[in-house]
Amino acid sequence: MEKVKIFLCQGCEISQKIDLEKLKKHFNSLAQVQSVEILAQLGDGAAREHLNGVEGALLFGACDERTHGSIFADLAGTNPHQLVNLRERCAWVHDADTGATDKAIRLLSMGLAELTTRNTHRNTQKHLTEWDLDLLHRVLVIGAGPAGLACARALAEQGIDVVLIEKSNRLGGTLRRTRTVWPSGEDSEKLLHRLYDGLQDKLHVTVYQETELVNLEESLHGYEVKLSNDAEEEVGAIVVATGMREVSGNLFEFEYRWRDRGKFRGPLAFEVKEGVHPFLLETAFWDAVMLRHEKPEERIVFFVPESVVLSEGFKEGAEKHNIEIIRGSIPGGVTGVMSLRPERKLRVIVKMPRRGTGVTGVTGWKGAHVKLGKLVGNLSENLAQALRIPQDTNGYLAQRRYRIRPRDVVHPGIFVVGGAHTPMPMEETINHAFVVAARIKALFDTKPKRLPGAQIDEEVCIGCGYCAAVCPYGAPILERTDTGHKARMSPRFCTLCGLCIAGCPVFAISDPVKSRESIKAQIDAWGKV
Ligand code: SF4
Ligand code: SF4
Repeated sequence: MEKVKIFLCQGCEISQKIDLEKLKKHFNSLAQVQSVEILAQLGDGAAREHLNGVEGALLFGACDERTHGSIFADLAGTNPHQLVNLRERCAWVHDADTGATDKAIRLLSMGLAELTTRNTHRNTQKHLTEWDLDLLHRVLVIGAGPAGLACARALAEQGIDVVLIEKSNRLGGTLRRTRTVWPSGEDSEKLLHRLYDGLQDKLHVTVYQETELVNLEESLHGYEVKLSNDAEEEVGAIVVATGMREVSGNLFEFEYRWRDRGKFRGPLAFEVKEGVHPFLLETAFWDAVMLRHEKPEERIVFFVPESVVLSEGFKEGAEKHNIEIIRGSIPGGVTGVMSLRPERKLRVIVKMPRRGTGVTGVTGWKGAHVKLGKLVGNLSENLAQALRIPQDTNGYLAQRRYRIRPRDVVHPGIFVVGGAHTPMPMEETINHAFVVAARIKALFDTKPKRLPGAQIDEEVCIGCGYCAAVCPYGAPILERTDTGHKARMSPRFCTLCGLCIAGCPVFAISDPVKSRESIKAQIDAWGKV
């Protein structure tokens, strides 16, 4: 292959964290390299003019293939090229003292190895293997809480067909469990009406209550879904808005009740559990401050285990509003339980120290005891598996690229909004729902292309099941045959992470873009530096 011309971008913190002159010196000394140039902003018009008429293999050290790949493909024209991500992989995660430059040399060496071992031009290969995502303009929204309602509404207002499913027999989710919205203080019921009114009769959203997703398969124009009410739908996109729920805590119920003025009497103990989510602490603190305004004389205490780290802001705020923080568990424990029914008076006995006596003396306490436990994702493991979206240990669904594309999941046309990703305030949830609706509209209008996933040679496959077991996205499916088992690939769910390709014992799986030789050359290049 002809010698490679390397172009390094200085923008987006790259030149601040990486010693580009060192890179230039290193690569200029290699036999496969013809030249190394450092340019101000590789993606913009000036660079385009500079590269106009340049021929041969081009290696760019700049930003991410997934966000800027098409810009660099345009820049390269018909020349074979390779884009190495120096921004997120070096400049954004390292600095000069933690090896940004050394890592940049290794990554560029891998890019050089890939470019020089590639059999065919990438552009040609992309042209051969990409397929259009011609998605049906119909969306399934799972979950009719604030995020699901807001997203369904925003989609329908743009003329998109929407099917909204809710597993319970009531719409509204968290809005039904709180009186006001945190932190704006907007009335929850009014917000619910604003999101729901006219959804079915005017915007023609199909709403199924007491209905869940049972199965999902990829189809030519999106996904075929089977619902628990026996309905079957084909949709071009899916929005997961299943929210979160509180376990081992009762903050939401408490919130619901105390805002009903007059129901709250006596002092208030917030018992913070190990592993509490910071979002719950923040929300509870807001409640405590509101209560302080209503009950200036009442004692309000947070019992916080030593293992829970409190921010400076929390401590300062507590001091300012005369809210006590006692480190450790509630001495003597709780001997009563708070009634959760609005019509009953609060009656809870918590043994706790008298004010000013430290933790030695213990006294009876009539007031409210609020437990701050954990918040977990509300989507069942089975459903997450059906959607092929990995969950973390707290049941939240994985995000694709948090810094660049928050709220995306890994599959085209599947989006997650609101608390299903991570706990967040109501307003943020609703804003994200609107953003996702706009992204879906853009996805439908632009008809993007997508590379196919890993490919399985069924002749070679021995049906060991390894690929189906390791794939985080459920893309390979093991099917029974007359002679045993064979793996089949669902290409839409494959992200080309490479796990199954590397582990298949008989090398039956291949990457449609990178050959084994190319991958080996890249690994060697990383090790050699
Ligand atoms: S890992 Fe390879 S041999 Fe095993 S089932 Fe998958 S494709 Fe077949
Ligand atoms: S390459 Fe990764 S995402 Fe694709 S099928 Fe294999 S393990 Fe799954």
